[in-house]
Amino acid sequence: MKRVIYRFGPEKTDGSAKLKMVLGGKGANLAEMARIGLPVPPGFTISTEVCSYYLRHRRLPAGLKDEVRQGLRYIERGMGRRFGDPENPLLVSVRSGAPASMPGMMDTVLNLGLNDRTVEGLVRLSGSRRFALDAYRRFIQMFGDVVLKSGREDFERVLAEERIRARVTSDTELGDDVLGRIVARFKEIVRIRTGQEIPEEPEVQLFFAIEAVLKSWNNPRAIEYRKLYSIPETWGTAVNIQAMVFGNLGEGSATGVMFTRDPGSGEKGIYGEYLINAQGEDIVAGIRTPLPMATLKDRMPDVYRELEMVARKLERHYRDMMDVEWTLEQGRLFVLQCRSGKRTPLAGVKIAVDMQRERLLSREDAIRRVDAETISALLHRTIKPDAEYQVVAKGIPASPGAAVGEVVLTAQKAVEIAEAGRRVILVRHQTSADDVAGMAKSEGILTAAGGTTSHAAVVARGMGKPAVVGCGELEIDYEAGMVKIGATAIPEGAVVTIDGTKGEVIIGAVPMAEPELTGEFAIILKWADQLRRLRVRTNADTPEDARRAREFGAEGIGLCRTEHMFFAPDRVGVMQEMILAEDEAGRKRALEKLLPFQRQDFVGIFRVMDGLPVTIRTLDPPLHEFLPKDETKIAELAERLGITVERIKETIHRLEEANPMLGFRGCRLGVIYPEITQMQARAIFEAACLVKKEGIKVLPEIMIPLVSDATELALQRQLVEKIAEEVFAEQGVKVKYSVGTMIEVPRAALLAEEVARYADFFSFGTNDLTQLTYAYSRDDYGKFFSSYQALGVLKENPFDTVDTKGVGMLMKMSKQKGRKVNPKLKLGICGEHGGDPKTIVFCHEIGLDYVSCSPYRVPVARLVAAQATVGKGERKDV
Ligand code: PEP
Ligand code: MG
Repeated sequence: MKRVIYRFGPEKTDGSAKLKMVLGGKGANLAEMARIGLPVPPGFTISTEVCSYYLRHRRLPAGLKDEVRQGLRYIERGMGRRFGDPENPLLVSVRSGAPASMPGMMDTVLNLGLNDRTVEGLVRLSGSRRFALDAYRRFIQMFGDVVLKSGREDFERVLAEERIRARVTSDTELGDDVLGRIVARFKEIVRIRTGQEIPEEPEVQLFFAIEAVLKSWNNPRAIEYRKLYSIPETWGTAVNIQAMVFGNLGEGSATGVMFTRDPGSGEKGIYGEYLINAQGEDIVAGIRTPLPMATLKDRMPDVYRELEMVARKLERHYRDMMDVEWTLEQGRLFVLQCRSGKRTPLAGVKIAVDMQRERLLSREDAIRRVDAETISALLHRTIKPDAEYQVVAKGIPASPGAAVGEVVLTAQKAVEIAEAGRRVILVRHQTSADDVAGMAKSEGILTAAGGTTSHAAVVARGMGKPAVVGCGELEIDYEAGMVKIGATAIPEGAVVTIDGTKGEVIIGAVPMAEPELTGEFAIILKWADQLRRLRVRTNADTPEDARRAREFGAEGIGLCRTEHMFFAPDRVGVMQEMILAEDEAGRKRALEKLLPFQRQDFVGIFRVMDGLPVTIRTLDPPLHEFLPKDETKIAELAERLGITVERIKETIHRLEEANPMLGFRGCRLGVIYPEITQMQARAIFEAACLVKKEGIKVLPEIMIPLVSDATELALQRQLVEKIAEEVFAEQGVKVKYSVGTMIEVPRAALLAEEVARYADFFSFGTNDLTQLTYAYSRDDYGKFFSSYQALGVLKENPFDTVDTKGVGMLMKMSKQKGRKVNPKLKLGICGEHGGDPKTIVFCHEIGLDYVSCSPYRVPVARLVAAQATVGKGERKDV
């Protein structure tokens, strides 16, 4: 094995940010921070390669122990203390740190190096027996839990008992003798729970802890988190061993978390929380309520200024908003770690725009910095301004937006209920890493404890989900499945609304307002529009959807699924009449009744889209979808149409198909029943003429679905053209239009040269194209998908992100063959993939003209299209 130990600190730094894969995020940053002159306590990092080795061989690589010993000597020099020295003991922390951020997912041991002898040295060093004993009991607790697997509950119970016995409310009030007893009781817990003793020898402690951290890469919550964020299992974690510095050495000591800008709003200025006379985990665990950073300015103005300086250095270096952990040890400031700060989507956008204005970033960089996956959350719903409601409790606004859902008290329930299609609000005392999967499925998160840097707040912001935390009035009774706010009881399942922008909790559902595109968000999208090449259209079937999409910047409709217009209650009856008609004349009579409805729909859409192209697809689904299934509905239909139940059943039976997705659907309907296409074409052209006469520009594009042979398209095109001529003659106006096809069937892709002869455009219907390329039923693949993913057959869901290898090859082939015969052939995508960032990048790369996606994805698509144009660029890794 190559080099496995990398030192960092004032004296010597081996690594840098470039080595993130080797040092993990934390280790790489410690190295980088030391390099730029920030006051990092000295330490060293064991590389991620050791993790892979260890998990494979179940032992540490040969020679590692000696290297670790040398590393320790380096730390000893930097701190002027010695590991295991009872006079002047050095204590270290042992922390995990993977190449990707996995907050709280893996293990940490602090105060390592303490034993019955060195604890006396710590008493002398600090001048406080209380502090030394407290550090010792924390060490036993962490080592017991993390390394020896004693569990945590007994320690918490003993602490609670001792607090009651001493009649105090916080651990900091416990006296020396009580802490001495706690140390003894903690050791006893470890002995009983694990059958082992905490090793006295610091070096033995250290190697135990290193192995525990390496193993924690494969603990269940880390595995769950990796799945959720697609972090490869092969990466492994690094281990950081670093000198401990103490924030709890009296009133001149403190510990805090700082963001270089407000992670909620993106406002400039350092932001965060701290605790005087405390250790880091007091903040993270939400045990004591920390003070807001602003109060530090009065209490310790010099430290505040120093932190501002650290923030400036960091932002200038990383050109990003950073999240910094710091400790003040008896007046000396240490920066413990920093990373790119998690932020709300709103803050992400504001910070990118502001940093461009501050000349820290170029426009292109600003575009690159915004996380496209999360910005759709920026289109937060909010409580309607005129809504009337009563706030039953207030907490800390931790992640903006409002959400409505049923109260659930466990993450597991959140997952179950959400998967059943219901909306939930996860309510917890506080959240921990185990709750992440449930949080991902919830509409919003509400906690009783914690501040703006608590786990719940950080994770919710990262996910772009509304959250209210630290809502002290909440009393949660997990066993009874009940939340109490004063005298009000809210059982699990009751609906509540939370407002994460204001920190409010409301019982019941409050009317919501749909979001708008304003402020920095509008600015960044304007920049995106200036940079991108790919056009962005929307999939919309109604004037309302079309209007919304235009507000979000859609440049046309890429797919109008006309069948959605036939499912409305007042229309489906006519549709049924058409399907049940005995002959062409009967069908035509029914279609004539549908014509005005359909025409009216198109008029509405054309008016909204005023001058922008509108792609309208002719009827696509199999006809059985329009017929009733249960007996009473069938009887009602028979009565309404004056035909027998048997006739209907016979038709239903006739339309039944073993695999309707491969059956009588798509253009096959229009080829066999030309009158359907004729009616739809008539509705489109009549609407177009009507709207044109109003002075509105219309650009209809008629799209034929599920073509597998060029003849199908040729026949349908002929029909459409004939109707167009008729309508134009009747109306006395002409409208420019085009006719094209969806590429949804592999055969059409393979024979694109033939198909393109009759097409003005191709639109990739990647839903069907994926279904038919893989032979995975769109409706049933879920049955085996997760197993396939677990086995590594599939990495990503090919119905979410286009399979660039197979389906993508068909797309590229179609483009190339199609353009060969028709150089002007317009190319787009209208499957659900059109709103997926990775797919959008692919569409840019293969040179499509546009993507079409649902209205709410339009802003995402605009941004990603720009990101695809500007490429990745250079950036310091954070
Ligand atoms: C497609 O198949 O990708 C498509 C857009 O059509 P639909 O989803 O309506 O089948
Ligand atoms: Mg389709």
